[in-house]
Amino acid sequence: MSDFVKNFMADLKAKNPDQPEFHQAVEEVLESLSIVLERHPEYRSAKIIERMVEPERLIMFRVPWIDDQGEIQVNRGYRIEMNSAIGPYKGGLRFHPSVNLGILKFLAFEQVFKNSLTTLPMGGGKGGSDFDPKGKSDNEVMRFCQSFMTELHRHIGPDTDVPAGDIGVGGREIGYMFGQYKRLRNEFTGVLTGKGLNWGGSLIRPEATGYGSVYFAAEMLATRGETFEGKTCLVSGSGNVAQYTVEKLLQLGAKPVTLSDSSGYIYDEEGITSEKLEFVMELKNIRRGRIKEYAEEFKSAVYTPVDPKLDYNPLWNHKADAAFPSATQNEINAKDAQHLVDNGVKAVSEGANMPTTLDGVKIFLDNKILYGPAKAANAGGVAVSGLEMSQNSQRLPWTREEVDQKLHNIMKSIHKTCVDTAERFGTPGNYVNGANIGGFLKVADAMLDQGVV
Ligand code: NDP
Repeated sequence: MSDFVKNFMADLKAKNPDQPEFHQAVEEVLESLSIVLERHPEYRSAKIIERMVEPERLIMFRVPWIDDQGEIQVNRGYRIEMNSAIGPYKGGLRFHPSVNLGILKFLAFEQVFKNSLTTLPMGGGKGGSDFDPKGKSDNEVMRFCQSFMTELHRHIGPDTDVPAGDIGVGGREIGYMFGQYKRLRNEFTGVLTGKGLNWGGSLIRPEATGYGSVYFAAEMLATRGETFEGKTCLVSGSGNVAQYTVEKLLQLGAKPVTLSDSSGYIYDEEGITSEKLEFVMELKNIRRGRIKEYAEEFKSAVYTPVDPKLDYNPLWNHKADAAFPSATQNEINAKDAQHLVDNGVKAVSEGANMPTTLDGVKIFLDNKILYGPAKAANAGGVAVSGLEMSQNSQRLPWTREEVDQKLHNIMKSIHKTCVDTAERFGTPGNYVNGANIGGFLKVADAMLDQGVV
């Protein structure tokens, strides 16, 4: 670690204590940027990094709501408007009990680089609440979403800040929040993305993150002359990203064998087929049940509950060719990464945000794994959100094929940026450096152009 990174991190930690995920995200980027800062002293003298780690605006608010028993509940709401150098703030809302400032700041920080990589004009932001939609009735979720938007509406807008979904925020939650925004503002605008198809949403938006992560992995494999045909794949999570990762893998002839939720995971040695995936979608999106039921329905599958005593995740310890972490941050530690390497995994494509610890990333890089970091590999979701914004502005919906083609082209272009940038800065094949530097340069140059703001 260079002296600059060491000193910068010490200051960052002192100024932002108790935010380990934020520290982790910044440290990873800084490690990549050392060489850029050496070549371009103008970024140092303009204090670009110091400015990038400080949110432009941070909004925290009370979200009171009434549950089905008539009890008043109080949650905390957040929106982090991180960087608007290249466009309006853009990034998802996460509803999960683990949500806190440090987690949202790491997500918002990553989002700035990711959005820049998409080639679309979007700044970075993130938000959410410690509200847990699990086990709540639709009416409770609606009352929460309405209260959340009653405060958030004054800070967002189609040219200011355009939130979307993330963990715990899917079509249902976006619908309730959009309805409340429209009622409060008396405006029908593209203020949120991930909307329903018949009220301004884009085709392929639900699929985009999972499809994009597989498109990215396919590009990585192609650099070694390989395809997904017949490849065994490990997928974690069973939400939006995991479901469409499995769908695209099946379309490309691969054999996905795992899925998980926060209670445990299933391993299906015969492979998760389209019919089995349909069961998962109904289970997770409609019945809102647990992944354990998969193993009760399909006898070829084994369910393993989470064992808090283990210091590794057994999901990552099966023989496979590729891995798609698609649940949450830090779900692959150094031990898991070593298991993946030992089991013959050639490619890892991150559907989730920062799913691999810094030690884990080092193991992938040292072993020359085709490792697609989240900023690049999961940018398909926000890219199609950007396309949804364009369609809303034009008031013209595009066809499924048109959006999918654009998504595919964007993922190819992100892959190319990563490869070319990594090479230009002397680390060929290092997608971490490629993504961090590629995302940084565009934002940093825009910040230089716009003066000290
Ligand atoms: P969903 O809420 O649809 O699904 C999340 C899945 O991950 C669920 O299976 C959930 O299980 C599991 N999960 C969540 N938290 C934990 C945890 N702490 N431990 C173990 N499992 C957990 O979210 P998405 O699929 O949308 O998001 C998944 C990841 O992808 C996140 O990291 C998100 O930031 C990232 N992402 C999402 C994008 C999108 O477009 N949706 C875009 C880019 C990135 P359970 O139901 O038990 O909680």
